[in-house]
Amino acid sequence: MKCRPLRFRTRITLWFSAVLLAFFLILFLLITVINNSVLQQNVKSTLIGTVNNNVSEVQYSLTAAEPAEGEVYIRYGAGYLLIDRRFLRLESGVYSSLYSADGALLYGENPVGNANPPFADGRLTETEYQGVQYYIFDRMAAEGLWLRGVISEQESRGLVQNATRLILLIFPLIALVAIGGGYRIASHFAAPLVGIAKEADRISTGADLSKRLPATRDDEIGRLAQSFNSMLERLEDTFAREKRFNRDVSHELRTPLAVICAECEYALDRERSAAEYREVLQTISGKAGELSSITQALLLLSRLESGNAQVELSPMDPADAIRAAIRETAPAAQKNITLESALEPGLTVLGNEALLTRLFANLISNAYRYGKENGRIRVTLTREDGQAVARVADDGIGVPPQERERIFDRFYRAENARRQGGSGIGLSLVREIAAAHRAQVMCLGNEAGGSTFEVRLGTV
Ligand code: ADP
Repeated sequence: MKCRPLRFRTRITLWFSAVLLAFFLILFLLITVINNSVLQQNVKSTLIGTVNNNVSEVQYSLTAAEPAEGEVYIRYGAGYLLIDRRFLRLESGVYSSLYSADGALLYGENPVGNANPPFADGRLTETEYQGVQYYIFDRMAAEGLWLRGVISEQESRGLVQNATRLILLIFPLIALVAIGGGYRIASHFAAPLVGIAKEADRISTGADLSKRLPATRDDEIGRLAQSFNSMLERLEDTFAREKRFNRDVSHELRTPLAVICAECEYALDRERSAAEYREVLQTISGKAGELSSITQALLLLSRLESGNAQVELSPMDPADAIRAAIRETAPAAQKNITLESALEPGLTVLGNEALLTRLFANLISNAYRYGKENGRIRVTLTREDGQAVARVADDGIGVPPQERERIFDRFYRAENARRQGGSGIGLSLVREIAAAHRAQVMCLGNEAGGSTFEVRLGTV
């Protein structure tokens, strides 16, 4: 059977309780050991103190006065022994007894029976009686009398046992505190995590990736929320790009597809002449080519935007890309436009030849498309301030100054160009390719009334 993993809170509670209880157990053992020795010491000093105290409470006198309350007179030899009321007979477990010089018990109690060792002034001895260990302390009093104090070792053990019992009694309380405390600490630390998890769940079930977790804390939890937020940001960005790509694709493919469908319906409607079929096929072929180049451009644009395209840059001469672009666009030459180029040789940039060819081909084909009848296109490449500067200038319809920024936006087409065919993605691709080369591209006006597109690439 597979066990369910313990939850974070339970785990912390268990750890905390275990550590606290282990700490308590070690403390308890330490206290017991220390207690034992301290109490032994205590017992011995209580014994010695009690006996020393009693020495001055025994006096010998030849005459007996009327005993005051608590005092005791004992006939001894020719006189009397006066035992003061401050004499401690049984105090803190210490039994005190008074013996004559020849060892006869005169007063008090002694629990060791016949196991009494010989008297020795001021010395602590030990003896065993009926399996019990006793400490004995003697002092010589007046007239050669002996004062003997006796305390059993059990007395000290009893005290230790009391302490142990007390500790064991509070043990469940400590266990309760450990578990309760552990749970509280765990809840305290788990609460923000649970909050983050709930918030994350809410975001994922609502599928609203624009929502963010509150990341106000300046600690690990705050960092977790921040990481989560940047992940959401990336996800949102990816989804937005995907959505835009899908929208772009359907937007761009709709018109040529509609034309293809209409042409097919027209051709299939009834028997057509060979010339009519040829015309239909030519239209379909043109639209299919358009579809193909749009999808390619969109795919490249989407890859460049997402940063997923592996753009390999290597030292190259930008003039090669420009020449390739001129060759590529030659079939699109129209309106009797003349293209002339002046390309400075020997420039080297870090670039991707295929992408740069694509960039210049877009600029040149636009120059043809928006150029005027019998007009001119001039393509130049020069070195300026350590940069390779390429310009594609035409004398066509130009771009109104207020629209020169916006024409680089996807699908944006300037007011004066809307009568011409076009999709509005060529320049956004140009901008993305330029960005992949850390190059600047801009649209300027020119003296001929047309437009000049300028590309600035860093040289190596
Ligand atoms: P498309 O040419 O397919 O419309 P582009 O992204 O290549 O898309 O161009 C966007 C817009 O920029 C064009 O619609 C046009 O308004 C303007 N434009 C681009 N190149 C030129 C140019 N050489 N002369 C005038 N306008 C231009």
